[in-house]
Amino acid sequence: MLERMSIVASIKMGKKKNANCEFYGNYAVFVFKSLRKPIFLRFLDWVLKREKIPKDKIKNVQIRMFPSLKKNGYYLNGKCNSSGEVFLYPKRLEACRKKSQRISLKCFREYIRGRAMASLIHERLHLKYGCNEKKVKELTKKYYSIFNSKNDFEPLDFEKHQEMVFNY
Ligand SMILES: [Zn+2]
Repeated sequence: MLERMSIVASIKMGKKKNANCEFYGNYAVFVFKSLRKPIFLRFLDWVLKREKIPKDKIKNVQIRMFPSLKKNGYYLNGKCNSSGEVFLYPKRLEACRKKSQRISLKCFREYIRGRAMASLIHERLHLKYGCNEKKVKELTKKYYSIFNSKNDFEPLDFEKHQEMVFNY
């Protein structure tokens, strides 16, 4: 698992994207480091075992550097394909700026980390449950709170944090 995670910069780098390179670069590195934490990797393995998803179903995890806009005007959190490639996308800069003004830096970092972790759990579950989005969302929430039950969140904080993370 460890060696199959990478940061991938989009090939289509327009002018505007270049200007935000530093922000998205730092974002990607932060996500990369968060997702490689042994405690989280062990947890992911446990989820796979519990869900009986064979490890080799996941080919690689690509942390994309730039946001991806869907046809419906929303930005993607993540996606996966039938060859087992998982793609994770950052929240866009403008939205991050807005959010970080309303919450503390610590909460903001926890949010970015949580968003990436939940997306990775979510996309892996899609490998088993296909397009059953409802089931995948339900299980993502369940596993995400199991993972965080060992974390040092204040009870109220976690509720708020979880609400932010799952506000797709
Ligand atoms: Zn989904």
